[in-house]
Amino acid sequence: MFSNDDDCASRLDQADPLAGLREHFTIPKSAYGTDSVYLVGHSLGAMPSATPRYVAAELDRWAEIGVHGHHQAPNPWVDYHDLVVEQMARVVGGGTDEVVVMNALTVNLHLLLTSFYRPTRERHVVLIEERAFPSDHFAVESQIRQRGFDPETSLVIVSPRPGEKLLRRSDILDSVAEIGEQLAVVMLPGIQYYTGQVLDMASIVEAGHRVGATVGFDLAHAAGNIELDLHEWDVDFAVWCTYKYLNSGPGGVGGAFVNRRHVDDQDLHKFLGWWGNRRDTRFEMSTVYEPVATAESWQVSNSAVVLLASLRASLDLVDRAGGMAAIRRKAEIQIGYLDYLLDTEMQGRIESITPRELPERGSQFALEVVDRSVEGRAVFDGLTEQGVSSDWRFPNVIRVAPTPLYNSFRDIRRFVSVLDQVMPRDRSGA
Ligand SMILES: *Cc1c(COP(=O)(O)O)cnc(C)c1O
Repeated sequence: MFSNDDDCASRLDQADPLAGLREHFTIPKSAYGTDSVYLVGHSLGAMPSATPRYVAAELDRWAEIGVHGHHQAPNPWVDYHDLVVEQMARVVGGGTDEVVVMNALTVNLHLLLTSFYRPTRERHVVLIEERAFPSDHFAVESQIRQRGFDPETSLVIVSPRPGEKLLRRSDILDSVAEIGEQLAVVMLPGIQYYTGQVLDMASIVEAGHRVGATVGFDLAHAAGNIELDLHEWDVDFAVWCTYKYLNSGPGGVGGAFVNRRHVDDQDLHKFLGWWGNRRDTRFEMSTVYEPVATAESWQVSNSAVVLLASLRASLDLVDRAGGMAAIRRKAEIQIGYLDYLLDTEMQGRIESITPRELPERGSQFALEVVDRSVEGRAVFDGLTEQGVSSDWRFPNVIRVAPTPLYNSFRDIRRFVSVLDQVMPRDRSGA
């Protein structure tokens, strides 16, 4: 199916039904003035070319009609967040009553932990992973302290086994069962940000529920990357950002999912604000709180319209691609192609620590420089010099993610040939 020549890359591009989407993105230029090989969609997705137009439309309205923009059609700002809910719900596999787009990821994590972490003397443990993204780790630790508990005793960490880099599914499930009745919340990533490993969310939910715990996921690296089915999997809550695979731009607005079972639970503690109050009485300015009957009741402030406008430009392209199933179809071919090129051209020099099996990985590759004679950081610098955008994670991992919406098969081919150039073969292997 694959071969090591430029023809193969061109053939794959020609056969790619999503190839035309790249034209709807503005890819950053390399130092040579050509499009760079932009492989950092796991960090900050490329800009849809229509984004400035979507954003400018709201700025123009502001300039032209000022405060009337809140209520004047089309797309009144008071309900502007509604415009993205359906599209976002499809991306994560939730109902429109279960998804809200607001704030930023870590803020949303705090808001939802406020509701779903209700420790008692008997049940007070939060389970996280050893290499949790620092923000998630900090959020959970501070939530534990904030409730008067001690992370020493209330934070349990599941780790890869000594000498291994990936979490074993059975180890996660065993930890959940072992903590048992003390387990309050399981808070794990859908995709581990460093290794790119997809965790088996459905089985983690099942295990968590079996011992009476609540299960939440951070989907920063999963939303827009893999197919998700949050409602079907019976996930209790989830949070994500939209500037990675969902291309909403730096500091883009975050997303949150609350399972329908909990949406209307009046016993859940929440941090309240006026935007969680029912729309029909919101502007009566009464101090009697009446929650919206959807996940929007977690929204505390009015919406960041400019950020939402920028997100709309990107979600429209997700729809244009045919949704996550179509995007994933292309991703699987891209993954197979990059696997093939790395196997045939880079063996002994670069090794991927990302799981090999498709159900356990999204678009991101975590590549370890195994050739000890080569400084990992120098490889990354060499890639950058040659117009390949990747990222570097201490101590020796280069992360790249060919993303279906704007990366071509020629991008992947170009990446591996530059990699080959910056890691001289004659020093390899030793
Ligand atoms: C990107 C990322 C974040 C970033 O959080 P913000 O609140 O958006 O700054 C947090 N957690 C994970 C796992 C991430 O990948």
